[in-house]
Amino acid sequence: MASHKTVKDYIRTIADFPHEGIMFRDVTTLFADPRGLRIAVDQLLHPYAGRPIDCVVGLEARGFILGGAVAHQLGIGFVPIRKKGKLPGPVISEAYTLEYGEAVVEVHDDAIDPGARVLVVDDLLATGGTAEAGIKLVERLGGEVVGCAFVIDLPELGGRGKLEAMGMDVHALCA
Ligand code: IMP
Repeated sequence: MASHKTVKDYIRTIADFPHEGIMFRDVTTLFADPRGLRIAVDQLLHPYAGRPIDCVVGLEARGFILGGAVAHQLGIGFVPIRKKGKLPGPVISEAYTLEYGEAVVEVHDDAIDPGARVLVVDDLLATGGTAEAGIKLVERLGGEVVGCAFVIDLPELGGRGKLEAMGMDVHALCA
């Protein structure tokens, strides 16, 4: 009989990781399941199938797994946005605020052609700080973000509102 499990059913929540009081959404169980991974990738790209998109940008680290699979399925290339100091070539950087302190993400300065239509992919949208920094990098290179796709949206943390206020189309599979 066909499984009726949804994407959310494959994700587990681990209490007190990485800090006490945090309920961490663990997508490794989704990725490890052949059907879970398949339906997650299919549902992520569903709104964008048939639309002109030139590349997928994935946010480190779980956005690489999902974004790579989405790019492969759409038949387009993949561009990583990485944490500071990981990319070998010339980069541009964007800093953003975390709960404690600051983080920096980077992209190769020649990774996106001016005018390229870009789909941004990550596993989870929380405050939106990571995605906002990634969008800014894409836009600084002249790319046009046509959508931001996430497996999980935690709307109470405000990320969706932040990205929509930037004019972004936000797509998420579950909360
Ligand atoms: P934001 O910048 O606050 O929106 O946080 C989103 C980023 O943090 C994404 O790159 C996620 O991978 C990561 N993240 C935050 N909370 C979780 C979680 O509960 N599970 C998995 N990743 C998370």
